[in-house]
Amino acid sequence: MSTDHLHKMTTTETSGLRDAVATSCRVLAANGHDDLIWGHSSARDPEGRGVWLKSAEWGLGEVTADRVHLVSPEGDVLVGDGVRHSEFPIHTEVMAARPDVGGVVHTHPPHAVALAATGQDLRPVSHAANLFVPPGVPRFTDTADLVLTRELGRSVALSLGSARAVFLVNHGIVAVGASVQEATVAAIVLEQACQQQILTHSAGGWPSWSAPEESLAKRENIYHERALDAVWDFLVRTLPPL
Ligand SMILES: [Zn+2]
Repeated sequence: MSTDHLHKMTTTETSGLRDAVATSCRVLAANGHDDLIWGHSSARDPEGRGVWLKSAEWGLGEVTADRVHLVSPEGDVLVGDGVRHSEFPIHTEVMAARPDVGGVVHTHPPHAVALAATGQDLRPVSHAANLFVPPGVPRFTDTADLVLTRELGRSVALSLGSARAVFLVNHGIVAVGASVQEATVAAIVLEQACQQQILTHSAGGWPSWSAPEESLAKRENIYHERALDAVWDFLVRTLPPL
């Protein structure tokens, strides 16, 4: 599925969007992002009403289209049922600050949380981190508590800047993409990159990593648009049944 096709889907089909968010949640659960009932992903509403967001009190692996609802920037549930995640401002405020973003993932993947808590910058010690570095993954440190207000959501967006992901230090990650599919792939590659860096450091020796020029070349060669689409398709094909 090409990114163009994904874009068309996100602008024409609300039911397709609900399905995409539900699939994103289940893909995240199956790929290192499961944390009991916590973590969520969203897609921008093509009509500008807010975000299609996973509803609360479900594990990521249990999310079906009817467990995704439309939430306004004020936090009102406009379409659908269920309890709203209290951290909705992460999604609505990042989307407000980044018109290029169509999907947002917020999860608590263990290796990313561990690496961010050490204070180390993410380094491209394997392929994975080259999706993010340069410029790198910035660090949000205003609070390690939940992002419950629009003001804190704006602050997360400010920390993210133009990057593809931000560490919420001692809490989790936020990853973004042009679509919820792209944001999901980014979140999974980020956790891979952090796991690889922790493995590298724990092995001792004198770690090396790519210089920025090589990182940019690797991004173009490995993580080009068609490959990211193919990764999404692979993740959907290998999803365990509900
Ligand atoms: Zn959280």
